[in-house]
Parts: sequence; structure tokens; C-alpha cells
Amino acid sequence: MNILVTGGTGYIGSHTAVELLNEGYGVILLDNFSNSKPEVINRIKRITGKDFRSYNIDLLDKKRLGKVFEENQLDAVIHFAGFKAVGESVANPIKYYQNNVVGTLVLCETMSRYSVKKLVFSSSATVYGTDNNSPLTEDMTLSTNNPYGSSKMIIEMILRDLYYSDREWRVSILRYFNPIGAHESGLIGEDPNGEPNNLMPYITQVAVGTRNKLTIFGNDYPTHDGTGIRDYIHVVDLAKGHIKALERVLVEPCIDVFNLGTGIGYSVLDLIRHFEESTGIKIPFVLSGRRPGDVAVCYANPEKAAKTLNWKAEKDIHDMCRDSWRWQSKNPDGYKLV
Ligand code: NAD
Ligand code: UDP
Repeated sequence: MNILVTGGTGYIGSHTAVELLNEGYGVILLDNFSNSKPEVINRIKRITGKDFRSYNIDLLDKKRLGKVFEENQLDAVIHFAGFKAVGESVANPIKYYQNNVVGTLVLCETMSRYSVKKLVFSSSATVYGTDNNSPLTEDMTLSTNNPYGSSKMIIEMILRDLYYSDREWRVSILRYFNPIGAHESGLIGEDPNGEPNNLMPYITQVAVGTRNKLTIFGNDYPTHDGTGIRDYIHVVDLAKGHIKALERVLVEPCIDVFNLGTGIGYSVLDLIRHFEESTGIKIPFVLSGRRPGDVAVCYANPEKAAKTLNWKAEKDIHDMCRDSWRWQSKNPDGYKLV
């Protein structure tokens, strides 16, 4: 079985490529390196000892994308490629709709043309918006308050319409909670461009000395310590969830939506404490006001994925902290110096 992985050199795509290769799938990676480095390809090969084809192509390039389908006997696509910075999406919505929504349309059109109609798509818990109470279930009403979230919601709608128009499509929409951690080899991990937006890469950059201190956004939320609560999930568990979703789209006609989370919420202060316990490194922080658009609490009800996909996150918060730190300490500047 040959699987096209769009955005395959990104954070989640690279970890999923490793799991796919370990499971014996053929992998074809596609990325335009807008938010990742070609070195990731060497690292994936080193970890798995397996070879595979990779293409430096923009998803919006219809012609070159078509060639990938001509040159490879593809069975399914796992689609990660997209932009993901919420703040940037507010400042530049067209860039986000163009890349995420139009990119997905070009991909689906090409998949249709070559009769490859099995797709696993990266959505996000951000589509639950601010009005639903955790634990979040897949049937809740969706809403968003930024163009990034809206692009995910629109793509979910497009994929549903596609399935209802042509029942040959098999689609699995995965709503990720907060992926952190890294492959246990320390060879691949999250490598944000510039100042990290997300909490864990900020913590590891403070730990490694790239940044002086963490700023905590809000300590007046209605939570046990006033800081925001999230459902952190190890990226390798998340990657394994993709294999389960893929197995399902390969055999069953479906349009499914699954939460991929642990079902456990940790506050910002909890995460700092667990990181300090796991690594022995102190994380200095300052308290500041809330970040606009943030919800107080967000965690999954992961039962649907457990029942239907037979998938459950296995790694705990210490595994997540330890593996995030192993990656950062072995690669203080990410892939940049390579
Ligand atoms: P990432 O930025 O590390 O990976 C995305 C990859 O897609 C990058 O390598 C980038 O170069 C590539 N890409 C972007 N636009 C492209 C295009 N037009 N053509 C080809 N390649 C393109 O992000 P990630 O954290 O691995 O996220 C993967 C997916 O999961 C994204 O769609 C993201 O929105 C979604 N997601 C991520 C998170 C998270 O916290 N990391 C949470 C929920 C959902
Ligand atoms: N956060 C923080 N400081 C940072 C980055 C994040 O206090 O530098 C908080 C943020 O307000 C939220 C939690 O950490 O409560 C997780 O934020 P992240 O951006 O990682 O995930 P998201 O909010 O997108 O779920």
C-alpha cells in the first residue's frame, strides 16, 4: 500500500511517516518546505532504515501534483499540509484560506481525477470554538473565531459534501488536541519558525537557553490554579491514531470524525511542574494577561476513537515532557544548523 503524505516533513507528518514505514506502508512525502526543512527526510530514513520518494511541491501546483499521482500507484492520502498559526491567520486571512482551503480543493480534485478517494485529514479541536464545555464530543456544534479555525471548519464541510456527492470517497477527519513530545530517538521533533506560539516549544526553548522566561497568558481562568487547561497528547500516539484511521478508510466507506486526545486536561502550571520534574530543569515564568481568543478549558472525550478505531493514547505527561526535552536538547537550534 502506498500512502501520499502531504506536509510530510512537518511536525506531525514526519512522525506519522515514521509510523507508516514501521508498519510496512510505502510512503511518498510531499512538502514545499514553507514550514519545515528537507533534513527531516534524512532523519526519517535514519530512524526507520527505509527509503521512500519525496517531492518538493506546493499543493497548489495542480500540474506537478498530478505528476505525483501519475508516477506513483497511490492507495490513500494523509493530508497534513497547511498553515497553522492562529495570529498570522487573523493578520492574513487570504493567505490561510488560499493555502488551506484551496490547497485541499486542488488535492481532492486531483485525487478524484486519479480515482484515489481515500483520505485522512488533519482537523483541529479549535473547531469546537468557545461555547462548548469539555469534555468535547464529535457531535457538538462547531464555531470558530479566527481564519485558521474557519479554514479547518470549511474543509470539514467540503469533505462531507464530497462524500455525499460520491460514495466512493472514504474520509476520516481527525480533530487533534495539543500535540507535544517527539520521537524517542530525539532525531525528529517540533521546530517552530521564530518565537514559538505554542506552550511546549516555548518551555523547551527556555530550558535550552534560547529564551529567558515563559510568559503565562492568564491566571484568572476558572480552573484549579487560574491558568488555561489543555489536552496534551504525545505526537507518536497521534501518529499511531492516523494508522488506525487509515486502516479504516482502506476498508470501509465512511465519513468519520474522531477526536484524538487523551481526555486528560493539564493547566499551564501543571505542565511546567511536570516538565521540571521530568527533566530537573527549572522554568522561570512571568504572569501576564489572557491571550485573545483563548478558551479556559479544552479537552477531549476520546471514546469514539477508542470504540471505532481501537485507538487510545498510551504515553503519559512525563513521556511527553521527557521526549520534548530530548529532541530540544539534542537539537538546540532545531534543524537550522544542519
Ligand atoms: P507543520 O507546519 O509542522 O507541518 C505542515 C507542513 O505542511 C509543513 O512542513 C509545511 O512546509 C507544509 N505545507 C504547508 N503548506 C503547504 C503547501 N501549500 N504545499 C506543500 N506543503 C505545504 O504543522 P503540524 O504541526 O505538523 O500540523 C500538521 C497539520 O495538523 C496542519 O494541517 C495543522 O493545521 C494541523 N493541526 C496541528 C496542530 C498542532 O498543534 N501542531 C493541532 C491541530 C491541527
Ligand atoms: N500559553 C502560555 N504561554 C505561551 C504559550 C501558551 O501561557 O507562551 C498557554 C495558552 O494561553 C494556553 C496553553 O498555554 O492556555 C496552551 O497554548 P497553546 O498555544 O500551546 O495551545 P492552544 O491554546 O492553541 O490550544
